[in-house]
Amino acid sequence: MERVVLIKYGELTTKKGNRKFFVNTLYQNMQKKLKDDRVKISRDLSRMYLSFAEEDLDKILKKLNEIFGIHCYQVAYQINNEIETIQKQALEIMKEKTGTFKVETKRVNKNFPIPSLDFSRQIGGLILKNNPHLTVDVHHPDTTLMIEILDQVTYLYTDKVMGLGGYPVGVQAKGMLMLSGGIDSPVSGYLALKRGIQLEAVYFEAIPHTSIEARNKVITLTKKLTKYTDSIKLHIVPFTEIQEEIYKKCNPEYGITIMRRMMYRITEKLAKRNKALAIINGESIGQVASQTLASMSVINSVINMPVIRPVACFDKLEIIEIAKKIDTYETSILPYEDCCTIFVPKHPIIHPNEKECIWNEEKLDVENLVLQTVENTKTITIREQENNEFENLL
Ligand code: ATP
Ligand code: MG
Repeated sequence: MERVVLIKYGELTTKKGNRKFFVNTLYQNMQKKLKDDRVKISRDLSRMYLSFAEEDLDKILKKLNEIFGIHCYQVAYQINNEIETIQKQALEIMKEKTGTFKVETKRVNKNFPIPSLDFSRQIGGLILKNNPHLTVDVHHPDTTLMIEILDQVTYLYTDKVMGLGGYPVGVQAKGMLMLSGGIDSPVSGYLALKRGIQLEAVYFEAIPHTSIEARNKVITLTKKLTKYTDSIKLHIVPFTEIQEEIYKKCNPEYGITIMRRMMYRITEKLAKRNKALAIINGESIGQVASQTLASMSVINSVINMPVIRPVACFDKLEIIEIAKKIDTYETSILPYEDCCTIFVPKHPIIHPNEKECIWNEEKLDVENLVLQTVENTKTITIREQENNEFENLL
């Protein structure tokens, strides 16, 4: 007797026209994720069937919990369609259960001689007779024993495990994630992946004002996100010169606003070069001076690309809850300085004026600074299953 994992797609089944594409993308993602395991995956438009080596099951289920597009799954016994075999297996499964139960039969194979309701009753009776400690409750049972009788095989299972949901990564185009070492941006990356968006990431550093430890922290965070997608390209932008120029030449009140306008310009360029169609970041409305609606509007106006802010309307506590769930929180709170936290003026402007920004930026050679910085950007590819060593980067 063999066990298989039955995998239901959930949300993607609602997208009728795209269904095949979604299923195929999920299939490829699963193949990649499980490439080192002894598994065989087959699919139809309603679910996937995964055969496995018994001793690998725990490892495989852990990986299934990291794949977007899986609504839920069950570990099912796959047996033949003979009544006696089904009875025997049903008793075997139910002898370990306690409390209340019910039996539900789905008879896809109409040649099977007993109608679904009758068969459920029969099996239920048999279970009761052999397990006097169990009782039937058809409304709120502790255990539901599902019997699915198909043309070739029958599946028996009791427990349903919820998956991550969302869409398979890759059903959307690419997004460029602005990834700092903070709490918000990795969470935003996770939420974007959940919508099926492929990610590349960009990190601005200002060495020697920021440290190699700060960069390694961002590499670690990127690696944590690769759990949900197989690899992420990380673009590391040398931002020191721009920050020093702003600090020397611009009105300090406008320092942060102008710095973020520069970040946006560079990110848009990198996004276009790498065929990303949107920018994703961890801005959250009202969190700091540069994230008031007034600030966001003045910062956003230097680019044309859509900016997606998955945590824009979340409370910090809600963001932290997700950060803990995806295991980025402990890394994010390591106390290394980010380029956003150096050269911070005493009174950053909360309602910046666009004209004032433009006037300040006239003191900088914006176009050249942006181009040069993009040219000097270094890119590394971070993969889930590799030890990533990037010591030779500088
Ligand atoms: P925190 O969780 O402490 O708020 P944060 O990452 O959200 O950290 P903010 O200063 O709030 O930092 O910046 C808002 C957003 O701007 C970030 O979420 C991130 O998307 C982007 N950002 C900030 N600093 C950087 C950086 N050094 N490199 C890339 N993106 C950055
Ligand atoms: Mg933030």
